[in-house]
Amino acid sequence: MTRRIAILGATGSIGKSTLDLVERNRERFEVTAVTAATNADALADVVRRTGASFAAIADENRYRELAELLAGTNCEVAAGEEALAEAAVRDAELVIAAIVGCAGLKPTMAAVRAGLTVALANKEALVTAGALMTGSAAASGSTLLPVDSEHNAIFQCLAGSHAEDVSRIILTASGGPFRTASAAAIDAATPAQAVAHPNWSMGAKISVDSATLMNKGLELIEAHYLFGLPSARIDIVIHPQSVVHSLVEFVDGSVLAQLGSPDMRIPIAYALAWPERMATPTQPLDLASIARLEFEQPDPQRFPALRLAREALEAGAAAPVVLNAANEIAVASFLAGSIRFPQVVDVVQEALNAADYDAPGSIDDVLEIDRATREKVKSMMQASCT
Ligand code: NAD
Ligand code: MG
Repeated sequence: MTRRIAILGATGSIGKSTLDLVERNRERFEVTAVTAATNADALADVVRRTGASFAAIADENRYRELAELLAGTNCEVAAGEEALAEAAVRDAELVIAAIVGCAGLKPTMAAVRAGLTVALANKEALVTAGALMTGSAAASGSTLLPVDSEHNAIFQCLAGSHAEDVSRIILTASGGPFRTASAAAIDAATPAQAVAHPNWSMGAKISVDSATLMNKGLELIEAHYLFGLPSARIDIVIHPQSVVHSLVEFVDGSVLAQLGSPDMRIPIAYALAWPERMATPTQPLDLASIARLEFEQPDPQRFPALRLAREALEAGAAAPVVLNAANEIAVASFLAGSIRFPQVVDVVQEALNAADYDAPGSIDDVLEIDRATREKVKSMMQASCT
């Protein structure tokens, strides 16, 4: 039986890894729909490779270009926000939600509301709209399969267990490029140093988040909504080798972990084949050559982002939306050379202090808080530069 899948964000890093697995297992999958932000060429190429029958491009100005590129194929072409949501629900059983940022909220929610199985890479969807997503999933019968490697690991460890038997989940963090750096060196960190992740190859934004440890902070919030545990029962441990992807502790003292090479195709394959498994071309784990697996406490002084994220999770309401939006603007400013590395977290702290929003009751509310926070943070930063 082939599984009908839609790939939202098909031209990105997760999208490409998904395509790689789909192409190696053609008999298992039929790609129904694919989407991209602006790159019509890349999206048309994905359509030709997969035979998808629906392609949506977010940028409406690229509609004509995409339509011309796909003239003579059986693929229907559409553009704009609604087309992304249409791609999510049309004919698919499994939706790979791999758009980056809040642009993924509406299409992901459309898939959840339609009761589909959703392989969720778009962590911002859970950070900013976690309660809305999981509430809608419970109402529609949609299954959320985490793709983020830590959450996928926890999902695997939880399989077959009862919620009341889980005492704690433990997220692992590589520690990023500044794990052993002095406070002074972190103070002077350049964008090139910050994006040089020791273990994973990822986009610039998520790499900077790994350097501040904000990525782990966002993942803490993501874990809370996915697995329903309070902040106090979600721990974070630094594990520089990125081999143990996360752990679950049970009431009897047993701790289960999922291990593997740091390759996103492993968690993506788990979501694609679930509840079965499928082969991947990834490097087998060679524990003897890795030799040592180390663990240490994160340093709250050098990495204050973790505290901020935990406070935002515990404050609830709009705080995670503000945290996420302020962080995105701050990271972009850092990458553009406008602020220094430690100021990324300072900007987020200031935005949280200044925020005064009601809890979002809908995706539109989330998007409005996101928009307003971005605007406020930009003018805050401009004011402090002049
Ligand atoms: P990416 O930037 O490589 O790709 C993003 C995809 O989203 C592209 O297809 C792009 O065209 C599309 N997109 C971007 N902006 C859009 C918009 N405004 N409207 C519609 N589509 C838009 O990102 P990625 O690294 O593949 O990450 C995707 C998601 O997965 C993110 O939420 C990220 O945090 C999460 N994630 C990624 C990794 C990883 O290893 N890359 C690991 C864990 C989680
Ligand atoms: Mg992760």
